Amino acid sequence: MCGIVGYIGYREAYPIVIKGLKRLEYRGYDSAGVMLYDGKALNVSKTKGKVSNLEEKSASENTINGSIGMGHTRWATHGVPNDVNSHPHLSNSGELAIIHNGIIENYEPLKKELINRGYVFHSDTDTEVLINLIEDVQKKDKLKLGKAVQVALNQVVGAYAICVFDTKKPNEIVAARLGSPLAIGVGEGEFFIASDASPFIEYTSNAIYLEDEEMAIVRLYKPIKIRKIKDDTLVDPYVQELQMNLEQIEKGGYEHFMLKEIYEQPNVIKDTYRGRLLANSGIIQMAGIEDNIEKFLNADRILIIACGTSWHAGLVAEYIIEEFARIPVEVEYASEFRYRNPIITNKDVVIAISQSGETADTLAAIKLSKEKGAFVFGVCNVVGSSISRETHAGAYTHAGPEIGVASTKAFTTQITVLTMMALRLAKAKGTISNSDFHRYLLELEVIPEKVMEALQTNDISKEIAAIYKDAPNCLYLGRGYNFPVALEGALKLKEISYIHAEGYPAAEMKHGPIALIDEKMPVVVIAPKQNHYDKVVSNIQEIKSRSGKIIAIVTKGDVQVKDLADHVIEIPDSSDALSPLLTTIPLQLLSYHIAVMRGCNVDQPRNLAKSVTVE
Ligand code: GLU
Repeated sequence: MCGIVGYIGYREAYPIVIKGLKRLEYRGYDSAGVMLYDGKALNVSKTKGKVSNLEEKSASENTINGSIGMGHTRWATHGVPNDVNSHPHLSNSGELAIIHNGIIENYEPLKKELINRGYVFHSDTDTEVLINLIEDVQKKDKLKLGKAVQVALNQVVGAYAICVFDTKKPNEIVAARLGSPLAIGVGEGEFFIASDASPFIEYTSNAIYLEDEEMAIVRLYKPIKIRKIKDDTLVDPYVQELQMNLEQIEKGGYEHFMLKEIYEQPNVIKDTYRGRLLANSGIIQMAGIEDNIEKFLNADRILIIACGTSWHAGLVAEYIIEEFARIPVEVEYASEFRYRNPIITNKDVVIAISQSGETADTLAAIKLSKEKGAFVFGVCNVVGSSISRETHAGAYTHAGPEIGVASTKAFTTQITVLTMMALRLAKAKGTISNSDFHRYLLELEVIPEKVMEALQTNDISKEIAAIYKDAPNCLYLGRGYNFPVALEGALKLKEISYIHAEGYPAAEMKHGPIALIDEKMPVVVIAPKQNHYDKVVSNIQEIKSRSGKIIAIVTKGDVQVKDLADHVIEIPDSSDALSPLLTTIPLQLLSYHIAVMRGCNVDQPRNLAKSVTVE
C-alpha cells in the first residue's frame, strides 16, 4: 500500500513528486505529504485527503522549491488518517526525513526505548519510530546516514519501502526495501525513487528494482551503491529497460481509469494470448509451462492461492483445470493458507495469482510452499514484481498497468492465462480430444471480438444502474463457471458503490439468502444458455415467486428468461468454459455506472488500495 516518490537531480523536484504521487494514488490515498530541500531548509507540507488537497496546502505554505524532494500518499496502518500522521515524518532534531510504505511490527518496544532516551513523538505512526531510531543510531555511533539506516533496519521487524533524507548529506537519498516494492529510475544527472516506475517513465527508461533486504545509496553525480542490509555485501546494480509507456498510465479520454480498463479488455486479452495461442496450428505454448510440464503432469494436485479478485479467477481456474486436465485443484485464500499449517508436499504444484505481484499474503504463502518443497508458478501482471521473482516459473498476464482500484482487465486476463494453461495441460495429458482442443483454441482466439460485443451492453447497463442505484443490497447468483463470476460481480459493486452485495451459487440461495428476497431486492442472475441453464431458470422462477427484481445476463436471442426477468442484458454466445470472459463484462459496467450515479470515487474507493502489501 501507499505510494512513494523521491527525486534528486537538477530539476525542480516538486512538480515531479506531485505528478508521481498522482500516478501512485491508486496505492493509497487517505493522506499525502511532501518534503522539499532547497539547499538551506527542509520544508514539509502534509495533509489528510488526496494529493489535490496537498497541492493546495503546499502552495499556500510555499513548500515547493528545491531539487531534492520526497512525497508520500498514505494508506494508514498505525494511526488515523490526519495531518500529523501523514508522511514525511521528521526526526526529533528535524534533520532527518522519512517516507515509508509498510509496517514496523516491533514499533512499540522501540518507541518505549526511544522515549526513555528522551525522544518525543508527535504522531501515532510506526514510521516516526523508525526515523527516530535512525537518528538515535546515527548520533550514538556517529554514523553516516547510510550506515545508520542499515543498523536501524537490522533492529526492525516488519515490512518496508523507505526513503530517508538527511540535511547533513544534502546530495543523497537512502532507499531500502523489505516486502514492499521500490524502483529507482536512473537518469542523466538525476535519480527517481518510486513504488513503481510510473512516476518517472517520461524521464528515463532505465530502472533498478531493489530486491528484498537491499538498500541503495542514491547520490548525485555518483554511481548507485546497493548493499544487502543484513550482511553489508555489495550488490551489482541491475539496470532494466522499462516496458511501460506514458499512454498506458493516462486516462486517454475516459472519465475514469476503471472505464478505460473495462474497454481495454478486448485488446489486452489479445496481448495475453499473443505468441502463446496459435489457433490455426492447434498450438498453445507458454514458456513457463513448456519448461516445467512434467511438474504439472506429475502433480498430485494443484493448489491455487490468491486474494480478492485473483481468488475469483482462481475459482474459475479450478473448474476449468479439473474439467479439462483432470488434475485435482484446491483454491485457497492466501491469508488463511499461510497461517493454518496446511499440508503441502513436493508433489504439489502451487499457482499463485496476483495482479500487482506484491500481495503480502500471497508472497508469504509462496515462501511457505517453497519451503515445503512445492513447485510454485506465478500468474501476475506487473513485470519484475516480487511474486514474479519469488516463484519458480510463471506467466505474465500482459494486461498493462491497471490503475483503477477495482480490478477489471486483470481478472479477464488472469482467466485467459489460466484457461490457456488448462488447455495446454489437458493436451499434454491427453484428457481432451484433438477436435475439442482445436475448437477451444479457435474460440479463444475470437473472444476479444465477443468481449467487444459484450461491451455494447454499456447503455442498457447504465439504464438498469439508474433504476437500482439506491438499493441497499443486491444479490448475485450464478452456477458452474459463472458462480465465481457472481462473486466477482458482487465484489465489484461493494468495492466501488458501497452497496452491500453477496454472490452465491444459484442453488445455494435456498439455504439462506432466499430469506432476503422481497420486492425491493435486486437479484443479478447470470444465466447464459449453457450447461446449467434449466436449473438457473428454475432459480429465477423461485426469485420471481417471491417478488424479487431480476436482472438477468443471458445469451443473445434468449426468450425463456426474457419472459421472466425484469431486465435482461444480452451477451454473445460462447462455450460454457469461456463464458466468464463475457458474463463478467456487463457486471463490471453495472457496478461502474451505479458507483458513478451514487457520486462515489470510482477509481479510488474508500479504505481500499490497489496493491495490498500489508498482511
Ligand atoms: N505504517 C505506516 C503508517 O501507518 C505506513 C503506511 C503506508 O504504507 O502508507 O503511516
